[in-house]
Amino acid sequence: MQPRSRKTRLLRLLPSRLVTTRVRSREKVLFLTFDDGPDPEHTPPVLDLLKAHDATATFFLIGNRIDAYPAVVRRIVAEGHALGNHSWSHPFMSTLPIEGQMDEIARTDASLSAYDGQATHPFRPPCGVLPRNLLARFARTGRTVAFWSYDSHDYERLPAATLIEQVRANPPRSGDVLLMHDDNADTVELLAGLLPQWRAQGFAVRAMPAGRG
Ligand SMILES: [Zn+2]
Repeated sequence: MQPRSRKTRLLRLLPSRLVTTRVRSREKVLFLTFDDGPDPEHTPPVLDLLKAHDATATFFLIGNRIDAYPAVVRRIVAEGHALGNHSWSHPFMSTLPIEGQMDEIARTDASLSAYDGQATHPFRPPCGVLPRNLLARFARTGRTVAFWSYDSHDYERLPAATLIEQVRANPPRSGDVLLMHDDNADTVELLAGLLPQWRAQGFAVRAMPAGRG
């Protein structure tokens, strides 16, 4: 497993106010993020684990799932986590014209704001596909892309023990933004294994700092 891809390293060359990968912090901290929810089956056990370990996270929700599972979204907010925007329908943004991309983002922001009152939210592009025209639009309008610096590979359908071993062999460092997914049971098991380790190592586990939507 390679948690730090070449693409992520290249994105680090861009200003962090345009694309966030790692986050500088004096505190010993890991920033935890979950994509592709809300999921009625798998998001609640993730929330249970976070609560049990005094951890917060950012949940990058898919717009067309938000109002299907309102109780899950309300619980995410009520328990002190942050909401992020993961597009309306999870397309490869590169397949859409720029106005179609912005529509995916705006519809999701509007849906999210009914839950947390924020007009805009940090945006994470589906599958990390980040077209130049979207990046240019964000640069012009002062929005931030919430990328990641550490990929847990939890979407590869490997046994949790294998995933945990991979993370242990190549561990995250303070300030890393970790990519995970709250849409499958493997992630719940992975998290159950990792959270106690991280806490024992003295890491705080937090949502990404509030950026500029
Ligand atoms: Zn996704």
